[in-house]
Amino acid sequence: MFDSLSDRLGSVFEKLRGRGALTELDVRAAMREVRIALLEADVALSVVKTFIEQVTERAIGAEVVRSVTPGQQVVKIVNDALVELLGSEAVDLNIDVTPPAVIMMVGLQGSGKTTTTAKLAKFLTEKRGKKILMASLDVARPAAQEQLRVLGEQTGVTTLPVIAGQQPVQIAERARQAAKLQGFDVVLLDTAGRLNVDTALMAEMAAIASATRPDEILLVVDALTGQDAVNVATAFKAEVPLTGIVLTRMDGDARGGAALSMRAVTERPIKFAGTGEKLDALEAFDPQRVAGRILGMGDIVGLVERAAANIEQADAERMAAKLAKGQFDMEDLRGQLRQMKAMGGLGALAGMIPGMGAAKKAMDSGAMDEKVLGRMEAIIGSMTPKERAKPEILTAKRKIRIAKGAGTTVQEVNKVIKMQLDMASAMKKLRKMGGMKGMAAMMAKMGG
Ligand code: GDP
Repeated sequence: MFDSLSDRLGSVFEKLRGRGALTELDVRAAMREVRIALLEADVALSVVKTFIEQVTERAIGAEVVRSVTPGQQVVKIVNDALVELLGSEAVDLNIDVTPPAVIMMVGLQGSGKTTTTAKLAKFLTEKRGKKILMASLDVARPAAQEQLRVLGEQTGVTTLPVIAGQQPVQIAERARQAAKLQGFDVVLLDTAGRLNVDTALMAEMAAIASATRPDEILLVVDALTGQDAVNVATAFKAEVPLTGIVLTRMDGDARGGAALSMRAVTERPIKFAGTGEKLDALEAFDPQRVAGRILGMGDIVGLVERAAANIEQADAERMAAKLAKGQFDMEDLRGQLRQMKAMGGLGALAGMIPGMGAAKKAMDSGAMDEKVLGRMEAIIGSMTPKERAKPEILTAKRKIRIAKGAGTTVQEVNKVIKMQLDMASAMKKLRKMGGMKGMAAMMAKMGG
């Protein structure tokens, strides 16, 4: 899976990697190739469009971190966008409820539903220490109930004894009751499938779902069917409250379209991937790992991440040096704002400075969220280097220009200036108090 997409992306980035500088034209040309690669991998057109727009915007606007090439930076941007596309974080099953938790498995015939039910039972038994009861609700095909029983024997998982003539909803209720009485943690319900999405199937699934109110409803779809898998998911989602997707046959030569489009189109997380016929061939779906596999450039992504971390360290060291002199200009404020953004909290320095209590309060109350920090950064970014080094030269005319450049108001510019002034005067006070040396040393340490 992902092989040809991986190769295509690899050759696009190979061209970018070594370059010392990248123009907007270079980025756009590369993105055209990425677009084709994604379309050829059968990723939904709407998904490709949004993805390319997002990556292009970020890549053109990106500041290149010192010590990496622009091409490497672009690889990292694409990697992050892929991770987001796949859902960012792995999403766990919601089964830590008052037992028994109920997991309902739905999907078309041949998607791998029954096999996946047994794989999941084995996974939850072995990896999570859960006691599992499986039940087949497929009364349309007698062989289906027998298939699950055999799989239960192979995996050592209990299956609900079959009572001839019972209907799916009755079986589901009997399974839940039995699980409750016999102390099972999780009930896995394997439902009937059809060759295609049809109204009878959907009605049956909806009836089972509303009668049993499962904690999880997992749709099993075949990754080899590409966009069809996404369409099937959309159809099921319209009838039953799906909580997640299991993509099977990820071991095959699927082009990747299903995996890459699923989350964005259905707004449901892929929770597991089936990777073979054996009963242990089931993996929790991890967007970071999958994106890494697609791009195959984990080394570069790691490099850019480390470089970004080093920049913070360099900022902290530079700051310590300036502190020792009792200075604090706009460049220092910008460094602090970046640190705040990176740490999701008040910068290390600001927290220790008397007079910054107000900023800390604002931060803690959420009044200074990422957006606000980003705006302040943009304001400083619109200043000339000279203005950043000597904020006292900021006349009304300059402030208007800066506000325009940052797409904000002069009031906002004034707030940034006030903040810098407060910090600068706190610095001076501190220096007079003779606390600077110790503090500078502390800063340098905190950066590391
Ligand atoms: P159901 O009709 O949806 O219940 O499908 P089954 O569970 O009976 O599976 C149909 C076939 O697909 C079986 O031969 C399974 O071994 C196979 N299968 C299921 N999952 C996977 C997978 O992740 N990879 C591969 N290669 N085969 C799978």
